[in-house]
Parts: sequence; structure tokens; C-alpha cells
Amino acid sequence: MRTVKTAAIRDAVAAMLSKCTIDAEPFITDSFEKALETERNPVARGFLEQLQENYRLAGQKRLPICQDTGCDAVFVELGQSVCLEGDYIEDMINEGIRRATKEAYLRASMVKDPIKRGNTGDNTPAMVHYEIVPGDTVRISVLPKGAGCENMSRIAMLRPADGIEGIKKVVLNAVVEGGGNHCPPLCIGVGIGGSFEKVASLAKAALLLPFNERSGIPHIAELEDELITMINESDVGPQGLGGDTTAIGLRVLSCPTHIASLPVAVNISCHALRRATMVL
Ligand code: SF4
Repeated sequence: MRTVKTAAIRDAVAAMLSKCTIDAEPFITDSFEKALETERNPVARGFLEQLQENYRLAGQKRLPICQDTGCDAVFVELGQSVCLEGDYIEDMINEGIRRATKEAYLRASMVKDPIKRGNTGDNTPAMVHYEIVPGDTVRISVLPKGAGCENMSRIAMLRPADGIEGIKKVVLNAVVEGGGNHCPPLCIGVGIGGSFEKVASLAKAALLLPFNERSGIPHIAELEDELITMINESDVGPQGLGGDTTAIGLRVLSCPTHIASLPVAVNISCHALRRATMVL
């Protein structure tokens, strides 16, 4: 067994959140550069240039790239040969969030109760997903998401007969119905298969994948290409104002499902994709 201190998990969460909420990842800025080479709509071009400037200023002034610093999804892949030492892991994850909220001037965006509301004041609690995996390391990822894009995410329990065309319809409808509310250009995670709860977590986990790669499953890789092409032909465009650049990244995760089911989930991230991973 290898020992990992939960204090190290707290420190990793704080460090990752403080950085990814301020520094746009190169994939995003490179994608905007590339989009500006082909975008034909002048309004969309202007908006892409404004976003580039926003990212540049955020990095320079050390301020968050968007005011909505989000609800923190945290993914923990815990090696089954790891012995955790210290305070309860989830308390330490939340402590890391508290620290980042203070140090990186993140907006307090969480409420205590979905009906009664009441801000918790420090962005806690996180939505934590645990997975026990082989090995002796802890892989921890953070994915803070604003409500604009999270609210536009969708889930559909299709019938198998709906097939690939049904899947495409669900994804395209989610993007088009979102208009400008989810702040395009988007990064999109799609889950296919599993059950009601599993497909939603697949869609969210897909947002952690590299967007410049494709699935190792040939027909899923093909679907990833088809979906992003279809979305970019929708003319939703940056901030929903029209244009060729509606999505800059899309990944699909799939898994086995019931003979009578075809669950599909779409988890949408705005252009302000914030994510980071560390292995301890
Ligand atoms: S959807 Fe994204 S870019 Fe738009 S306000 Fe929310 S966090 Fe910011």
C-alpha cells in the first residue's frame, strides 16, 4: 500500500482551481486563432477577438476569465492500493475549494438548499465523483462550470430504434435551444449508453478528455467528427449571434446499456472551459 495524505489532495484542488479559473488553457486560445482564419461572420469575428482580449487581460491581471466561477465537479480516481491518511477526503476537497475561492477571488456561487437557497459563501460543497481504480496513485480532476452552460445540458432516454439519428438530434437540439445562454463557442461532452445516472456522468467526464484527440472506438470517433461538423453548420455562432464557430471541441464517452435503452446526455461547457488534473 502507498500512503497519500488528504492534505495533499486539498492543496492540489486549491492549486488547480486557482490556476484554471484564471489561465485559459492553450487549446482554447489556439482554437480561437484557428477559428479566426475561417470564420466568415464579421460579428462572430469581433466576438472571438474580444474573447481573446478577455483571456489575455485575465492572465495579466490575475483575475478569473469569467465572473461565474461555477459549481465545482471533482473527479477522484482512487487507486485501490492507496491508503488515505489524514482528515476525511471530502472535507479536504472542500477546504481546497474554500482556499481557492479566497486566494483567486472566485465568486461564491453555491447555495445551501435548492429551494430555500442561501449562499454558502465559499463555493462549497463540491460535486465529488469517486472511482476505485487499479494502482497506487490518486488522480484528481477539477471541472468548475458556470450555470449558463450547465443549465443548457440535456439528458434523453431514447429507444434503441431512434439510433444514431436520434442521438444527433438530441445533441443538436441542446446546442440550438441554448442559443447564446451557454456562451458559445462551446466544448461539448456527450454520454451514450449506461443508465439514467451513468450517462449524465459520462457526458460530464467527456469534458475532461483532450479535444484534439478522437475516441479509440472507430464508430464513436466518426460520430464525434459528424456531430461537431453538424453543430458548426447550425449558425448558432459565438454568443449565439450567428457564425461558423459554434463548437471548438466535442468528445463522446460510451458504455454498455440495456437491450431496450439508448440513454444520451449532453453536458455543455461554454468557451470558458476550466479544468485541470493532477496525479498524486
Ligand atoms: S456560461 Fe460560461 S462564459 Fe457564460 S457566464 Fe457562465 S461561466 Fe461565464
